[in-house]
Amino acid sequence: MTKNIAIIGAGITGLTTAFYLKKAGIPVTIFEKSHQIGGVMQSFTQDGFVYEQGPNSGVLSNIEMVNLLDDLKDDLKPEIGQPAAKKRLIWQNGHWEALPSGLWSAVKTPLFTWKDKFRILGEPFRPKGTNPDETVAAMVKRRIGSSFLDYAIDPFISGIYAGNPNYLVTKYALPKLYQLEQDYGSFIRGALKKAKIPKTADDKRITKEIFSIKGGLNNLPKVLAKKIGNSQIYLDQKELTVSRENEQFKINNQSFTHVISTVRADSLSGLFPFLKSEELKNITNLKYAPVVEIGIGYQDWKGADINAFGGLVPMVEHKNILGLLFMSTIFPGRAPQNGALFTLFIGGSKRPELTEMSESKLLDIVKKDFTEMMQLTDFKPDMIHVKHYNKAIAQYGADSKARLEAINRIESNYKGLILAGSIRDGVGIADRVKQAKTIADRLSRS
Ligand SMILES: Cc1cc2nc3c(=O)[nH]c(=O)nc-3n(C[C@H](O)[C@H](O)[C@H](O)COP(=O)(O)OP(=O)(O)OC[C@H]3O[C@@H](n4cnc5c(N)ncnc54)[C@H](O)[C@@H]3O)c2cc1C
Repeated sequence: MTKNIAIIGAGITGLTTAFYLKKAGIPVTIFEKSHQIGGVMQSFTQDGFVYEQGPNSGVLSNIEMVNLLDDLKDDLKPEIGQPAAKKRLIWQNGHWEALPSGLWSAVKTPLFTWKDKFRILGEPFRPKGTNPDETVAAMVKRRIGSSFLDYAIDPFISGIYAGNPNYLVTKYALPKLYQLEQDYGSFIRGALKKAKIPKTADDKRITKEIFSIKGGLNNLPKVLAKKIGNSQIYLDQKELTVSRENEQFKINNQSFTHVISTVRADSLSGLFPFLKSEELKNITNLKYAPVVEIGIGYQDWKGADINAFGGLVPMVEHKNILGLLFMSTIFPGRAPQNGALFTLFIGGSKRPELTEMSESKLLDIVKKDFTEMMQLTDFKPDMIHVKHYNKAIAQYGADSKARLEAINRIESNYKGLILAGSIRDGVGIADRVKQAKTIADRLSRS
């Protein structure tokens, strides 16, 4: 049977899947609810600022991400984060401290207690965990200690998931870290042994660098859409439903052998009325962190030194903001000369109530934290944009095993239906691209 594939959602997952399917010669049609492509990945320019809404940068953390940028190199210009962006700041006791980048700085840093610094020496000898549902917080406390959780892992988790380490389960939220302990019995022993494994040509290309695209990340979905052919992308598909007839799928009177969904968990029941609520319940209960993202621009920056990636604020510091990125340092050209561009995050799983505040109250708390952290006497930015996300980032908790089983059951009961997107396989851009390429390869081969 000739394949004819529908993809629901024109975010980075849907577009990348379509791009590789088309490359393999398989016909594909994308249905998108909103009036634009890119999903949460949107970029804007104003008065010399290039600011992002949604993701601010990706990481070259897998070969699929590296290859996608390579496949599109004639149409877009990737930007790699400046060396200064290697420096990450953590807020502690009223000022920023750099996260240690080497052994000596790790010994000297005030971020971690002396007790935990000594405990690290014993990490290779601690037994490995046996609970596959152990939270990130429990695992880090067990292997290293509370100060490491509070001042390294908690802010790191805010940066990726806007999440709570007491909720997220390591096996699903940080699978590489979980596997390191399972395979080697210890993070340190694992990291040392892995460092000795000779690097393949692909490994050498996975530089783990931060990247964006010149002119804004949204140029990535734009170029993908151009390659797929805009005529294959139907926008404004509100109230879309997929029906199942004679082992095929029907959307707007068109028949498809396969449907790939890339939508959020809470959109699935409306989209697929033939799926029973019993079949979906372990998927639709997936939690998402709400986030407010604020772009702040200054034409002439007179505040603190911003020669770093940005700063993250540990929960134990009792501030209102989760963290902020120094976008014009990471990617020069995002602000006018002498100016500065920041992206600031509020809320997340730890402080969801803040995302429900009125805009004026929200700006009051931003003003208080931002002026203190950036050593300003007042808050008079030249540009400010506030964007609310009620369900920004999927939270992989202890319900993940049941969710993945439910997805597998549905996919085997309804042949041709693929439930993708960030309901599984990771929330970062590189995770989304890897999933898309894997699905496209599987369908091209079968
Ligand atoms: C505020 C924020 C900041 C982030 N920061 C980063 C970062 O710095 N680095 C990083 O790597 N990742 C980051 N992420 C995560 C990353 O951006 C996302 O995981 C990724 O862009 C999601 O892509 P997607 O295509 O899977 O989903 P989406 O972008 O959500 O696309 C899904 C598409 O499906 C459409 N859709 C939904 N329902 C229907 C329906 N019923 N019918 C038709 N279409 C429908 C939507 O309109 C949307 O266009 C961030 C996410 C957010 C929200």
